[in-house]
Amino acid sequence: MKLSHCITHLTGGGSDGWDVFYRARQMISDGYAVTELTIGEHDIRTDPSILEAMDLSARQGHTGYAMVPGTDLLRDTVAARLQARTGVPTTRNNVLITPGGQSALFAAHVAVCGPGNVGLYLDPYYATYPGTIRASGATARVIQTTAEDAFQPRPEQIEAAAGGAVSLLINTPNNPTGAVYSRPTLEGVAEICQKRDLWLISDEVYDTQVWDGEHISPRILPDMKERTLVVGSMSKSHAMTGSRCGWIVGPEEVISHLINLATHTTYGVPGFIQDAASFALNAGTSLEDKISEPFRRRRALAVSILSNQNTVGLVPAQGAMYVMLDIRATGLSGEEFANTLLDTQSIAVMPGESFGAAAAGHIRVAMTIDDERFESALNKICELAKELAQNTVARV
Ligand code: PMP
Repeated sequence: MKLSHCITHLTGGGSDGWDVFYRARQMISDGYAVTELTIGEHDIRTDPSILEAMDLSARQGHTGYAMVPGTDLLRDTVAARLQARTGVPTTRNNVLITPGGQSALFAAHVAVCGPGNVGLYLDPYYATYPGTIRASGATARVIQTTAEDAFQPRPEQIEAAAGGAVSLLINTPNNPTGAVYSRPTLEGVAEICQKRDLWLISDEVYDTQVWDGEHISPRILPDMKERTLVVGSMSKSHAMTGSRCGWIVGPEEVISHLINLATHTTYGVPGFIQDAASFALNAGTSLEDKISEPFRRRRALAVSILSNQNTVGLVPAQGAMYVMLDIRATGLSGEEFANTLLDTQSIAVMPGESFGAAAAGHIRVAMTIDDERFESALNKICELAKELAQNTVARV
């Protein structure tokens, strides 16, 4: 039987640099002690107070079908949160609650892209981006950013790629690079979106994890509210990755169509999860500070360790729970370095290549283990890089 083109062409094929990840997982299940610094999973679990709110809600009977657009309470809470943070008037009619940020990314693309359209995204990118655009039926077109620009996109590069495109997907704070887009960067992006009549899909799931600079949502920029769809999530801010709770914030008309889409796809998010999310978001900043604090500390550790050597470069780590390291001085690709690191030090990191060609020669290190082991892993990475770089020089 023939399968659809859409489903069989969702991913590009090939390893895409994920072999190291699967190999590390296999080693762990075979009983080897591997230091796992691959994916964005916190080393702490959802706060007990959030679990209590979840339990209470479930016991009170919120285990049936919930309102498809989201509960009034959670939609109001998300709207108030965004309005307080951005100053942009936002009501529950601007909000759709989704099963996590990933399904919000998919729904946002379905809302604005389709077969025959082109959706733009920036390299390096979060692994699912091209497939998510393709899942809408559209063609995914990549735009390279560069290490030399600290992975901030240049408006002229976006404009050069914009022919025939209907949307642009951006992510700040950025996974994998840790870049936080500056106001000039976002103003440049907004200008191109207006000039080329593009929807802007703004993935802001790391908005509570900013170490340097400030998080600016492009929805606040002049004339951007009507063409911006903001994607948010409880996953990263509140260590609720498994709860699958996120949202899209956008113009009312788009949200009303997306509610229709949700009715025919997800049928909403469980009520007890939404009640737990409402509790967490209304608990002030203490719960999210508890989550972000260890990453802030480890990022400071990374800056200090990396400043004591000159083989490995640290891409300015402004936000999110990862640091991106430039290992080009070793003469190896990110994938080769990550494989060597796994084989010789039992440390698993993501090769830059798994996030696109622009991150070749880099590795992404998730800051998701305790400080002491994180420090030791970074020191080992630097030592290995130094050794490899010396061998490279000796060979030349
Ligand atoms: N966007 C980015 C940039 C991410 O890194 C992730 C998860 N790693 C997501 C979206 C999706 O997160 P979730 O579906 O758990 O909200």
